[in-house]
Amino acid sequence: KKSRTRLVMGNWKMHGSLAANAELLTGLRLGQADPAVEIAVCAPFPYMAQVSVALAGSHISWGAQDVSAHAQGAYTGEVSAAMLADFGCRWVLVGHSERRSMHGESSQLVAEKAVAALAGGLAPVVCVGETLAEQEAGQTAQIIEQQLAPVLALGAQALAKIVVAYEPVWAIGTGRTATPEQAQQVHAGIRASLAHAGAQQTRILYGGSVKASNAASLFAMGDIDGALVGGASLVAQEFLRIAAA
Ligand code: PEP
Repeated sequence: KKSRTRLVMGNWKMHGSLAANAELLTGLRLGQADPAVEIAVCAPFPYMAQVSVALAGSHISWGAQDVSAHAQGAYTGEVSAAMLADFGCRWVLVGHSERRSMHGESSQLVAEKAVAALAGGLAPVVCVGETLAEQEAGQTAQIIEQQLAPVLALGAQALAKIVVAYEPVWAIGTGRTATPEQAQQVHAGIRASLAHAGAQQTRILYGGSVKASNAASLFAMGDIDGALVGGASLVAQEFLRIAAA
């Protein structure tokens, strides 16, 4: 675990404005940098330029929340990995549960987006997670396995550059966090699958109602390498407290 640098990443979702982002980004820049933790924020597309300027020369990196599976062409409304990389974007979320459920993204498409991201020089953060019904039916391991399969098939070289985020759908934005033991169990399964595919160092983040008050107990688990944070990433002090945990 020690060799995997911790990563705490914010997902702003469809929140923010030039004014609100400026305040948030200033707050993040003023925070103390702990070299043991990487900090990143995933902003809406129109604010990529603002974020790239505001965080230039800081210890904080940034990402987008989605990317096209295509490199370029007649894909109205889509944004390519190369366009994001143009702004110094480093990360991109792929397969967030909101995109899987509201935009019909399949695990195959999510893997294609991960490939497009890698080809464009971005590091994809592949999000997986079961719904409440699936969890109650005891299908968590099987669902995660299915969601990860096309990504694992990309091979060890690709997996070395990828981050996996385990986000149980029932914990996202609900205030109901998985217990550290629950999350660790799933993370250990993901770790085993990654190892089987030849990836030893891939980071696995937990996401789902992470806040300053529960971050430390999650980060104490052997296979939890950081967090993907939604709501709590919109307040600089709260987000920094999570990173400090
Ligand atoms: C997310 O959507 O990635 C997330 C983890 O949201 P929240 O922290 O608000 O549950």
